[in-house]
Amino acid sequence: MASIVEPPSRPLSLADIARIQFQGAVASLDLTESMRMRLSLPFREITVRVPVLMDDGSERVFMGHRVQHNGARGPTKGGIRYHPDVDLDEVRGLAALMTWKTALLDLPFGGAKGGVTVDARTLSRNEKERLTRTFTRRIAIGLGPYRDIPAPDMYTDAQTMAWLLDEYSSRAGYSPACVTGKPVELGGSVGRSEATGRGVLIVMREAAKVHGVPWKGSRVAIQGFGNVGSHLAAAAFEEGLRVVAVTDVGGGTHNDNGLDLPALQAHVERAGTVAGFAGGDRLEGEAIWRVPCEFMVPAALGGVINREENAQALDCRMVVEAANAPTTPIADKILTDDRGIPVIPDILANAGGVVVSYFEWTQNLQQFRWDLDEVRRQLEKKLVAAFHEVRARADADGVCYRDAAYRIAVRRVADAEELRGH
Ligand code: NAD
Repeated sequence: MASIVEPPSRPLSLADIARIQFQGAVASLDLTESMRMRLSLPFREITVRVPVLMDDGSERVFMGHRVQHNGARGPTKGGIRYHPDVDLDEVRGLAALMTWKTALLDLPFGGAKGGVTVDARTLSRNEKERLTRTFTRRIAIGLGPYRDIPAPDMYTDAQTMAWLLDEYSSRAGYSPACVTGKPVELGGSVGRSEATGRGVLIVMREAAKVHGVPWKGSRVAIQGFGNVGSHLAAAAFEEGLRVVAVTDVGGGTHNDNGLDLPALQAHVERAGTVAGFAGGDRLEGEAIWRVPCEFMVPAALGGVINREENAQALDCRMVVEAANAPTTPIADKILTDDRGIPVIPDILANAGGVVVSYFEWTQNLQQFRWDLDEVRRQLEKKLVAAFHEVRARADADGVCYRDAAYRIAVRRVADAEELRGH
């Protein structure tokens, strides 16, 4: 486990969590001090102001960031997030997680992340388009199919990526490989939007086998019903699991017999939130952590499973990190060491999205398309292999899944750094 103790005075930021996890993992690796510095500091950071003409004629100015953490293994890769909590430090933390995730999955990418500090829910479609175009123009100097390739993250989607593609291509010529997670009509991969959620289910199933947790009929609770949470819920429902609780920013719903997913999706399309679903009991947001289940899946924000609020209270057999950095290091320790609840780390559990982004990028470069069966088959193969590689390392080294995953990933990046030289 991580060797650094959580400072009690303030809640940990996502970047703190990523840093502590990295430091805990590299302590056991034979790395020079300068290599530790190379791996912990970002390669390049771009911060821009993003003025946006609002529909009412006024102008608002937002701040945006793109951090390229490490590109030793290939062009950097990572999503763009629009959220009021975005700041440079958060983007740094998320970019580092992408470096370890792409290395763990042995993809020919490094790690990056971008974000704009904005409550995207308050923007009209036209405002969001103008914001995306201006942000893209201002970070375009660092982007490109062989340089840095964005993708969707919180409050950005295929449409956002389409605007980014259009803006980038208007300067560089048609460049579908400059972004992933774009609409299929513009060269996106079939199966990309479902990939992260589906990937979570694949990794969860492999972990369930190892830990003797029953599968069909098991209960899943999910915080977040966006891209990741909703596709995970749909895939789990199809697989015959019971999705017993779901929350989003508007509230939550709970039904111990399992929520009727098609009906819930229809409700969300009408109401814009899972709250108020007639097929379940009302659930206040934080009550999700007390719902008895086999699989507890945070699929929204960072730092939500922590010592103060819920690590001791979770009533589950396994935590599966669909969100990035949802568990603080102390909570991680409480769960894995004290309570014997395995935590499947983000860099493994939610890697399905970047795996299919890799498929999308290669299809774009080759001007070739795979069908959905092929995408799903290749995704399954990659994630099953990665899970068992991490499990074998965890067994061999006597460490938790997170430390095992970091040891594999950090070693790969360190080797590439060493080979490329200064
Ligand atoms: P999204 O914007 O599509 O959905 C976010 C969801 O979180 C929404 O349902 C929103 O209502 C909910 N949410 C926001 N604040 C909440 C709160 N306080 N309580 C409960 N729910 C809340 O985002 P997404 O793409 O699904 O990403 C979710 C998480 O998964 C993020 O941590 C992201 O970094 C991570 N992730 C996403 C991808 C991807 O391919 N989209 C890949 C890897 C990791």
